[in-house]
Amino acid sequence: MKNTVYLDYNATTPIKPAVVELACEIMSAVGNASSVHSHGRHARKHVEGARQQVANLAGVTPGQVIFTGGATESNNAVLKHFTGKRILVSAIEHPSIRNALPDVEFIPVTPDGLLDMDAFEKMLDEGTPPALISVMMVNNETGVIQPVAEITRMAKAKHKDIFVHTDAVQAAGRIKIDFPALNVDYMSLSAHKMGGPQGVGALIAAPGAPVTKFIHGGGQEKRQRAGTENVAGIAGFGLAAELAVSDMENYQRLLPWREKLEAEIKRIAPEMKVFSQNAPRVASTTALCLAGLPAQTQLMSLDLENIAVSSGSACSSGTFKPSPILLAMGAGDEDATSTLRISMGWATEETDIDRFIEVWTKIYERACEKTKQSA
Ligand code: PMP
Repeated sequence: MKNTVYLDYNATTPIKPAVVELACEIMSAVGNASSVHSHGRHARKHVEGARQQVANLAGVTPGQVIFTGGATESNNAVLKHFTGKRILVSAIEHPSIRNALPDVEFIPVTPDGLLDMDAFEKMLDEGTPPALISVMMVNNETGVIQPVAEITRMAKAKHKDIFVHTDAVQAAGRIKIDFPALNVDYMSLSAHKMGGPQGVGALIAAPGAPVTKFIHGGGQEKRQRAGTENVAGIAGFGLAAELAVSDMENYQRLLPWREKLEAEIKRIAPEMKVFSQNAPRVASTTALCLAGLPAQTQLMSLDLENIAVSSGSACSSGTFKPSPILLAMGAGDEDATSTLRISMGWATEETDIDRFIEVWTKIYERACEKTKQSA
């Protein structure tokens, strides 16, 4: 779309041109990766090449990578393997973790959105030893980076048989992912959050970490997930993973733009609050809260000017429900429904931020004017 400012990378990223090119090329060729003839072998080469590229992104061996239909599926699969056992997950996980099973226990977070390590330690010490811990690397709404290595260290020091999963969807391409150094047993990834196609992801499992069959049928994905592989999608994911690693340095260019954005909005509206401002965050994300100015109103006004951002609330049955993530961080309903999430990525330019500031200022001034008139 022309003249569009897209600042919703945490929802989905634009696909990188080289990925589109590769996926289209593969899509126009025939070949089932399980076929023995040359067409099949060609498709297989793409799938296995992508497995190596995704393995490189996480610092694992290709045999540890299982391709899935996205991170929702990967997250569900890990939790469901531990059905009936004690599972602790952070209170700010994606719904594909929080809602995967009815009886998971939530580990609280601090008002800054970091795992509450004291509460976590207590939960580890009390009751039945947990079988699984799941804590995300980077939060999708605030960009907060969790101390996953420290969390794993604490959990495994107390219970050596415990398994640890991390949802690394929002970390890929933003910060280095080192599966062995994190000492986790499982990791979920999603292609469309790193410049790849939608509907493809991966579950990475440590050697010996149990995985329940995802789908029964043929022998694909080492008999774990039956069904003809999405070769074009998987190959696109592989290339996106490779580019996520090689482009990572470039990612830091976003930091001064985010700082400028937060400083400018604060200058215009001193009452504005940035969620998790003092916690370690990825460079690309900010959650701006302006209590009393509903995020949905801001979102729609921005959309009219072709600026796409997200809000800390989601529409459910016609009403806007505050985000459980912000509520878990101790935000009130008003703050949580007045929060805009701005997320940048590989194609963002400084002019996008400048345009956002310019349009947002007009929206804010209009809202202030209206408040004055009705007072
Ligand atoms: N985890 C996180 C942190 C996410 O942001 C998302 C996407 N919104 C998912 C999981 C789900 O990924 P997918 O869209 O591939 O199912």
